[in-house]
Amino acid sequence: MTSPVASQPRRRGVCPGVLVPMQVGDGFLLRVRVPAGVLPADHARRIAELGDRYGNGLIDLSQRGNLQLRGIAADGLEPVTEALRGMGYVSGDAASEAVRNLLCSPTAGLDRTAPMDVQGVARTLDARLAEDAALHRLPPKFGWLVCGGGIGHLADSSTDVRFDPVDGERFQVSLGGTLAKAAPLGFCRAEDVADVASALGRAFSELRATLPEPPRRMAGLVAGMGTDPFRTRLSVLISPLSPGERIKVRGTHLMDLFGSAEPPHPNLLPGGEKGSQSGKVVAFPFGRLTAATLAALASACAEIRITPWRALILVAPSKDAEAVAHTHGAILSHNDRRLKLTACSGAGGCDVGTTDTHATALAIAERAGPLLDPVRMVHVSGCAKGCAHPAIADVTLTARDGVYDVALNAKPGDASPYTGLSPADAVARVADLLTEEFTGA
Ligand code: SF4
Repeated sequence: MTSPVASQPRRRGVCPGVLVPMQVGDGFLLRVRVPAGVLPADHARRIAELGDRYGNGLIDLSQRGNLQLRGIAADGLEPVTEALRGMGYVSGDAASEAVRNLLCSPTAGLDRTAPMDVQGVARTLDARLAEDAALHRLPPKFGWLVCGGGIGHLADSSTDVRFDPVDGERFQVSLGGTLAKAAPLGFCRAEDVADVASALGRAFSELRATLPEPPRRMAGLVAGMGTDPFRTRLSVLISPLSPGERIKVRGTHLMDLFGSAEPPHPNLLPGGEKGSQSGKVVAFPFGRLTAATLAALASACAEIRITPWRALILVAPSKDAEAVAHTHGAILSHNDRRLKLTACSGAGGCDVGTTDTHATALAIAERAGPLLDPVRMVHVSGCAKGCAHPAIADVTLTARDGVYDVALNAKPGDASPYTGLSPADAVARVADLLTEEFTGA
């Protein structure tokens, strides 16, 4: 049992990178930003070796499409950094690395149903973010997104500046949120995306500086001053829309063209007529896999795409890829209940955590079984900060000093009628509550 002080939520404020390793409960965490989310199989194998040799062999997939190596020892930082630099994954300095918060459709170039292959656009933008020093003073977490549409669209991903395809040559540019919630500015040509992003980043910095309490995210700035100041500054690069107007493609709003892209879709890229390349989607509970798993998967495909859905796409998988993934505990079905589980790293991965959050969540899936079918999310949080999901979940467990508070339809830290439960009692309580809720028993 730890002291109350150690159980307080921790505010870190900065985003980790390779050049800004973050010290957490199990050593240093290195976030590797992979351009366009495309990881050649030989790079994946070498990264797995680095995680195994210098770290604790655990690798996390972030919701922003990055790989995170965990448990790196202090004397391993330099060799890991140099090896990653040799593969092209390290920027010139920490500021140019930190600004590269760019999400790209993971099916870019693989899906013939997509209006555009956005890999090139994403790589050009990634390079511009690193080069343009004026963008390096943007707040941490300020992000960008290039969506190619099709089955790997990013309509539901939220970010600060988004580019969504209108056709094979143009993007809708919108600010602050998911495709449905972001404020549309207008549209731009694919070749102008980097210039538009650069101008928008500058405009954000200038405009926020005029306010007494500068917002740190685009949605806050747009809520305060609307989109007109951006339209004025970008009138040369963007064909404007009227306020409230949304781009339509063949009479349909852009956001209505996209269905759900929540993974995993086991046959996401079946090859043949629809897909130009075959691909196998493999997900992992909590987005965590081991270096050995990454190495095995890399040996069973030509390339790995990193998605924002805690899943990987194995491009051109070998015949035994599914068996390899299954052996390593991957999630291969959309119906796997482990997809409903969310948890931070908890004890062992965060020095604030006092419980094994992953073990508790998996025990709930095991115990509750079909009772979880009507549930969208079970969140086991290592403390009230709720790093993995600060919002409301159907079932939320909040740990403190080795025990849990359990609540339905609550955020981490919300008042709970069931407090101070041991992990085993918390698992049983969740099963009882779900039984009452969904069977009336
Ligand atoms: S929510 Fe989890 S990861 Fe975040 S500070 Fe608390 S214990 Fe650590």
